[in-house]
Amino acid sequence: MFASCQVIAKWLLPGFFNSWHKIDPMNFQQSELTQQVARTAADFAEQYIRPHVMEWDESQEFPLHIFKEMGKLGLMGVLVPEEYGGAGLGYFEYVAIIEEIAKVCGSIGLSLAAHNSLCTNHILTFGNEEQKRKYLPKLASGEYIGAWGLTEPNTGSDAGNMRCTANKSGDSWVLNGTKCWITHGRSGDLAVVIARTGEPRAKDNATAFIVERGVAGFAGGKKENKLGMRASETAEMIFDNCHIPDENRLGNVGDGFKQSLKILDGGRISIAALSMGIAKGAYEAAVKYSKERQQFDKPISSFQGIAFKLADMATEIIAAELLTLQAAERKNKGMSLSKEAAMAKYYASEVAVKVATDAVQVFGGYGYTKDFPVEKYYRDSKLCTIGEGTSEIQKIVIAREVLKS
Ligand SMILES: Cc1cc2nc3c(=O)[nH]c(=O)nc-3n(C[C@H](O)[C@H](O)[C@H](O)COP(=O)(O)OP(=O)(O)OC[C@H]3O[C@@H](n4cnc5c(N)ncnc54)[C@H](O)[C@@H]3O)c2cc1C
Repeated sequence: MFASCQVIAKWLLPGFFNSWHKIDPMNFQQSELTQQVARTAADFAEQYIRPHVMEWDESQEFPLHIFKEMGKLGLMGVLVPEEYGGAGLGYFEYVAIIEEIAKVCGSIGLSLAAHNSLCTNHILTFGNEEQKRKYLPKLASGEYIGAWGLTEPNTGSDAGNMRCTANKSGDSWVLNGTKCWITHGRSGDLAVVIARTGEPRAKDNATAFIVERGVAGFAGGKKENKLGMRASETAEMIFDNCHIPDENRLGNVGDGFKQSLKILDGGRISIAALSMGIAKGAYEAAVKYSKERQQFDKPISSFQGIAFKLADMATEIIAAELLTLQAAERKNKGMSLSKEAAMAKYYASEVAVKVATDAVQVFGGYGYTKDFPVEKYYRDSKLCTIGEGTSEIQKIVIAREVLKS
């Protein structure tokens, strides 16, 4: 009884994190720059995020101030070139940052990913010079929190069938409809919104627009009460005769859906990274606990049933990491990556769910409580197989590419 109480005392939140030691065999092939960036993100997460993880999770608080602080460190404009106020880094560094943050809190990792690789990256990739100069410095500094709206109540996987419309009226566009499940749907200062500008189901029938918070006819709607990722705000965005000037249109009329697919290719690398962070966090916690928890007068890690779980976790995490780095490398080199990004996202997200599930098993009953970290990894991990295209949709993308050859 006393021995198990001592183990518990070490692990109780937030105290056990003080004695946290990293068990991470996966940091190979990182350049000095990537390592430095990863250390910065990890230190920030330990100091400013770790102490509040469960408090934000319980209350579903979206901690806006944390994103402002991350802006000061360059984490809100990781991929944005320095000339637009960003950190000017590549996808290896971006993956490392999302992983380190998600290791500590999946919610903050998810929000950081949505801000960087969906909203900000859409403007960076498809915005004209004026739009980039106007918006990127604000997004990169954290002055603005970004949102990206594609999904609607009736169209998730089938996003091309959207009902939210934008009709031309003089020099502006009038948006009507609802977007749902939008990360920062209420708190975002600026959103990239994809709306239908052509006939339903027609080819090239969507266009992307930049919508700033405060414009008449645009409001945040219902905030979701979620299983996991609870400190990442997920909410509706409602458009009711919302007039957007034509100068806020991103690229050509009709290119919105094509643009979104390209943005999602990059976004899937970040969900793979998010998955890796969650999986590594759960794995490290499970290894540590298995060495400390005694049953039958031995650490539970000495039982093959537990040790084999850890072996599977380590192997699958490294396999997922290699897929993620492959996709990141292709993105850095400007190569096609639909298949590789879908493979990385699909495999890494399924690994995250499996590793987090097994980590709860390693912790036994204690893993089922909120006093220990693994139940949160377990809840958070599930989003990774759903957001930015479900596992089934990733398999459709992969199969399509495989069957091309
Ligand atoms: C926390 C969170 C944050 C999100 N953030 C954003 C955001 O910032 N912006 C945004 O635009 N969206 C966002 N989303 C939405 C997300 O991308 C969608 O939930 C996702 O694409 C799935 O759509 P759906 O929920 O409508 O499921 P559906 O499309 O209804 O799918 C239901 C089930 O059917 C399966 N299915 C559907 N079609 C097929 C098919 N052809 N073959 C086989 N199986 C199929 C799916 O795989 C799934 O299992 C977010 C979602 C969540 C949960």
